[in-house]
Amino acid sequence: MIPPSNVPLESIERIWKDIFDHYGYTEKIVRLKDFYPDEKSLIVSFRHISDYSNEFAELLINNPLPTLKVGENLISSMIEKSRDSDSRRVNLRLVDLPDRDVKVGIRDIRSDRIGKIVSISGIIRKRTDVTPRLQNAVFQCSVCAELTIFPQQRGRLEEPPVCSNPECGADRQKAKFKLIDDESEFVDVQKLEIQENPETLEGGAQPQRITVVMEDDITGSLEPGDRVIIDGVLLTDQKRIGAVLLTEFSIYVYCINFRREEKEVESLDITPEDIEEIKRLASRQNIVEDLARSIAPTIYGMDIIKQTLVLQMFGGVRKIMEDGTTIRGDIHILLVGDPGTAKSQLLRYMSEITPRGIFAMGKGSSSAGLTAAAVRDDFGEGRWTLEAGVLVLANDGLAAIDELDKMEKFDTASLHEAMEQQSITISKAGIYATLSTRCSILAAANPDFGRLDPSKSIVEQLKNFPLPLLSRFDIIFRVADVPSSESDTRLADHILKAHRVGEELRKRELTGFEGERLPYEEEFVPVIPKELLKKYVAYAKKSIFPGLSEEAMEIIRSDYVRTRNAISSPGVPITARQLESIIRLAEASARARLSDIVTAEDAIRAKDIVKYYLSESATEEGVLDADIVMTGMSGKQRTIASRVKEIIEEMGGDRGIDFETLKNTVALRGVTNEQLLSSIKTLKSNGFIYSPRDGVYKVIKFDR
Ligand code: ADP
Ligand code: MG
Repeated sequence: MIPPSNVPLESIERIWKDIFDHYGYTEKIVRLKDFYPDEKSLIVSFRHISDYSNEFAELLINNPLPTLKVGENLISSMIEKSRDSDSRRVNLRLVDLPDRDVKVGIRDIRSDRIGKIVSISGIIRKRTDVTPRLQNAVFQCSVCAELTIFPQQRGRLEEPPVCSNPECGADRQKAKFKLIDDESEFVDVQKLEIQENPETLEGGAQPQRITVVMEDDITGSLEPGDRVIIDGVLLTDQKRIGAVLLTEFSIYVYCINFRREEKEVESLDITPEDIEEIKRLASRQNIVEDLARSIAPTIYGMDIIKQTLVLQMFGGVRKIMEDGTTIRGDIHILLVGDPGTAKSQLLRYMSEITPRGIFAMGKGSSSAGLTAAAVRDDFGEGRWTLEAGVLVLANDGLAAIDELDKMEKFDTASLHEAMEQQSITISKAGIYATLSTRCSILAAANPDFGRLDPSKSIVEQLKNFPLPLLSRFDIIFRVADVPSSESDTRLADHILKAHRVGEELRKRELTGFEGERLPYEEEFVPVIPKELLKKYVAYAKKSIFPGLSEEAMEIIRSDYVRTRNAISSPGVPITARQLESIIRLAEASARARLSDIVTAEDAIRAKDIVKYYLSESATEEGVLDADIVMTGMSGKQRTIASRVKEIIEEMGGDRGIDFETLKNTVALRGVTNEQLLSSIKTLKSNGFIYSPRDGVYKVIKFDR
């Protein structure tokens, strides 16, 4: 590319020199000389450039690469004056670019921007390793053995057209050029993929992505999940099939500089008027209930679930103790239920209204799975790439994962780590990275046989879920679809009205015709509009850090002790895990009210939610039994199972025991056939017993 003819090369060099002299860069270049090659870039403020000359600023934006090159060459000549090295690479990196001229959304990039400076913001989704690329190749001529330096572009290796030895001057016909790689000069390169920030997407649209190429000293500093603004030049790459070049091109951004997106300047801009409005809302008497009613108004009922989802949006307080231990503040929720109970609908809605929310399917949403993975694909051109999954991309937000029961096997283990540690470590194929997964998870799952079996616990119906994973959910809601003429009528009525209102709105939008207003239209308008709700949550999460009041602590403590001691069953009605969940929910409730103090009211709301969930999901004959969620068996079942195990061990010995003998033996001790079968199943899946032959059982012995 050649700069426009009205600005000749010499004058570009003179302008750079002037700018360097005028704005104090010359001294910086002198200093750069001392630190080279530990420091290889001169940072230049674009403000100085436009201050010096608007015309030059314009040239730089519209034709950056050759213009920057002149400046870079000038800097390296200034550095080299005192050193006897050959060509040394220096980077001129721009800051303070004018957003107005260069900022563009990833989805709005068009061919008219090719070759110009663009500034894009997004989240890093993939990165390759940093690898060397030939920059100045040194070739040896087969005729005269002299060396020729030949600069390389990205892509295929280019040999020099002729030997640089004037006495030889052989061309490619006469001579063979051999690459001497240890004489050649390399530059570090890294390829990244950046995707649109979730909060800028309209109603669940798929995020668009673009490739970014970094060179030299800025490589290796970003990881998947990082939020950045990339300033760079939009360039093209010709597509090819094998050796055949096509007329289509793909685009990428050659990075000049990048900035990490700071927390305060996140894409949601909350104005002082918004804050006033938010504070007014927060002072309402029943704000949590009002917020819950703003969630998916078209979905009928589910009041407690919606209220819990509100609390999840706000989240509890993340604690970092003096010794470095962290306690998670995010609340994880799982909905298990019958098909057609609006689970998916609810998940989508939550991912849209929660700041930094992302929606994904449990199965095959990307090769990275749910957390992150080292993958080998086209992007890395055969090399390994580190790719982020939903949990990394939703860092600091919400990951809504539908059909979690269909997740891939390899995800189960990493999900567990991601949920509890809130980070995931990848160590594979030379790639080593720890990525943050500090998000709350809202997941939905269908039971193993499609429909909930009311006679069985949830755990028994989710056999693909390892228990340690299940127990990381603060709340597991059972969403049953039970026919009842009263609630069916109301549900049908609600859905019909929703469709009726929808028809009317659509007609109004497309024809501009006002028509009649339906009397029940109001029911479907959220009490708090979506956009405001999003800002409300973002504001509260950023600025409110509530602490438990004495009163709240007393309520939670005494209730915990009372519940644990109330029942004399073999199980435990509630465990310390649920206690922590109650604390998180209570903090979230205070946050939703923009209160610095967790009051009695917050504590009561939280404990009621947890008790409701336990009573729905973890009861044995009507008695609370947290063991069902914690161990997969109620206390009673567990005693039966351990009795069965003892019998297998005693009578089976080394040979094992056959089913008939086992059945007859346990029957004498009051164990029914059904209880026996379910005990065998649980003992097997928990790795206590196995079948050496069909119908024979043996206890697995652990060597010590
Ligand atoms: P699931 O994911 O639980 O199988 P979906 O979210 O796909 O269910 O819901 C199926 C359809 O039924 C959706 O169109 C949803 O709006 C409707 N639906 C189910 N339950 C309700 C409800 N309580 N209120 C309103 N619509 C509902
Ligand atoms: Mg569904």
